This record gives sequence, C-alpha cells and structure tokens, in this order.
Amino acid sequence: MPLPVKRWSVLAFVFASFVLLSSIAFAAVEWQVIKVNGHDYLSVDNISKFYGLPAEVVPSGAKIQTNTTDHPLEFINGSREAIINGARSWLCFPVIEQDGKSLVSRTDLAKTIEPLVRPHRVPDLGKIETVVLDPGHGGHDKGQMSRYGAEKDFALDVARKLRPLLQAKGLKVIMTREGDYFVPLEVRAKIANSARNSIFVSIHFNATNDDPKATGFEIFSFTPRGAPSTSDTNVNEKSFNMQPGSSVDAQSMALSACIYHSVLGQLPEYDRGIKRARFAVLRLTKVPAVLIECGFLTEGGESKLISNKDWRAKLAGAIGIGIENYQALPVKKQPPMLVADYRRQAKSTPVDPSIREATVKEADASDPGIPEATVKEADASLLQLVGRSALLSQPPKPRPASTASVQSAPIVP
Ligand SMILES: [Zn+2]
Repeated sequence: MPLPVKRWSVLAFVFASFVLLSSIAFAAVEWQVIKVNGHDYLSVDNISKFYGLPAEVVPSGAKIQTNTTDHPLEFINGSREAIINGARSWLCFPVIEQDGKSLVSRTDLAKTIEPLVRPHRVPDLGKIETVVLDPGHGGHDKGQMSRYGAEKDFALDVARKLRPLLQAKGLKVIMTREGDYFVPLEVRAKIANSARNSIFVSIHFNATNDDPKATGFEIFSFTPRGAPSTSDTNVNEKSFNMQPGSSVDAQSMALSACIYHSVLGQLPEYDRGIKRARFAVLRLTKVPAVLIECGFLTEGGESKLISNKDWRAKLAGAIGIGIENYQALPVKKQPPMLVADYRRQAKSTPVDPSIREATVKEADASDPGIPEATVKEADASLLQLVGRSALLSQPPKPRPASTASVQSAPIVP
C-alpha cells in the first residue's frame, strides 16, 4: 500500500532532520574568548564542549598519560606539550591558568587543535596529483652519521621504497634527488611549487649531541604567522613572532597528522610529536609540506633499526599510508586513522616482531645496507620543471654543523 510507505518515508525524513539538527546544535557551542594581556584565549572546557571530546588538564610539571584513549585532549598547565588523539602535539603557546580555568591560545585553537582534531574539515584540501618526495641532504652533504651509514643514504632509500607504493595508488611521484648528489634547499622547494596539485614530504633522520639516549619520531610543518617555533625556548604569551606564515598551514598540519599517526601507530618508537619549525624547505614551499625525522642515528638501538632495510621498508609503507589518508580526507570527509586504530589493527594482525632481533644480528654482521647510489640522472619531468642548471650546477657549499643541530634539536629528552 503506497500511502503508509509514503508516511514512513516522511517520518524517516523528519527523524533524519531532527538528528541532523541536533548534531548541529551540539556542535554550536558558543566560543567565549578570554583576553589575557591583549591576547585571545579559550578555556579547555569550552574547547572540549565544542568538539564533544573529553579533555584532561594535569598540573604544571606533571606527566600526561599518553596511553589512555579516555581523553582525546590532554594538556599540561604552563606547558606547550599536549596529547591530541593519542599523539604528542606541540602548541605554539603554553596553556595558562586564570581564575581556576586552563586557557589555550586562540592561535592554537585555529592553527593546531582544529586541523589536528578535524583534518577532514580543513578548507581547500583539494585533489592531490603529485607527491614530491625529498630525501634530505645528498652528495657532499652527508647529513648525520651513525656507525652503520649516512643519513643521506638512508633517506634516499626510504624515498625509493616509498615511490612505487604511491605510484601504485595512482599518484605521480617526483623525487627532488634520485641519487647521491646535492640539491639546494630552494630548488627542492621550487620543484614542489612547480608541480601540479602537489604536496611535499621531506625525509630525514635525527641526531643530537645533548642526549645519547634520545630516540623517536617527530614531524614538522611550517610555524604559523605570529607564533614561535617548537624549538624556541622561554615561550610565553608575549612570544609573538611576526614572520610571515603560510597560506596552507592548516593543510600542512593535516598532512602532519595523517603521516605521523600512521608512522607512530605502525612502528613502536618514541613519540616526540607533531611540531613546528621554519626550516628552509618548509618556508619556501607554497604547497602543503612536512619534514619527518624518522629516528635517531645517535642512539644505538634506533641507529641499528634504521640500518635495517626491512625496517626502512616498513617506515616507507607507513609514510605511504599516511599520504594516502591525507589524499582521502576530502573524499571520505572523516578523520584519518589514529595511532590507537593502527595499534588495534596490529593486534589483530601481528606484524613482524622479528625485525628488531633480525636487525641486531644483521647490523652486527656489517649489513651492506644501501647499495652505492647509481642513479645520477634526475627524473626528466623534474628537469622540465626547474631546468637542468638548477639541479646540476651548484657550488658545494658545506653545511655548517649548527644548521643540522638546530634542525634536529630535540626539545624533550
Ligand atoms: Zn637531516
């Protein structure tokens, strides 16, 4: 009978509209901006209500519980360190306390929390056609060294392993270098800027002189206008920095989130976090851009892992899944997989616990590692993009050691 069916469909429509409206009403929590010394802040409580996400604030100096999924938003009073959806995420400004309330800067709400919590809502995500992979260093610039090899070779190998994975997903891949030669930082950025609908992913390994035990992953995107970088010390609410920002910093932050959750969720290394820096390649690129530091060459265990080709393949796979998730954001219109999702998935399908043990043996047996780089000719399309001279005739300017250490300086042990 047609009538009741019609009635049911009307009812269903009314019900659906109600659900839709109530969810909008739920999200429409009013923002209550609190002025502190002329700067805008929002209370953690306000932020928590807006997103409908439980938040926790621990006292100044206390440690956050990083393994709980009870609080997707975790803050420390007086600190820039936060855990957002299970991954360490560095705010631009410390959380401050006023009248019993914990306050987060408006800059961080807009530039850090929003793109991390709702990367799928970042405007102008666009369609990604090209991934520009940038293996750090090259040629005379070896990057950091471990007893097993040089950063430039490990980074190139990860990029080479990652390229076919992305190509298999229908993405065009351009490498800023294909072999062991140096490419100036501005040329790397120019390559990304010249490619159509591109994103830029720079691959590095870390090192520090300060703490031989330092380990873990960290990822950087460009510091927003008006904010200090993560490695800047003594930051307070007055540390405004008027260097220009990037028009795509929200997209870059979303890309950071997608890649970092995948890498951290699939390789159990220490979580150093999602950070901001004004590195040249991030400053000069006009497209969504990140720089990932894939572990420390100065720490015994991690440098052995990095020297293992299976581990590097796993790393490449994880970066690839992160990129794929970023590409899918505007299509799926939902957040990417998070650290906890990957770990849950790994529990149901355990993967390769043998890599760590195998690595120790292989490294001790002097792993030949990466074969000598033989590809000297750059990708033809790359030459078209930036011109042969940009790639092939650079004076070998030695990189001052301080640049590398600033780039890598860990801000937590
Ligand atoms: Zn590097």
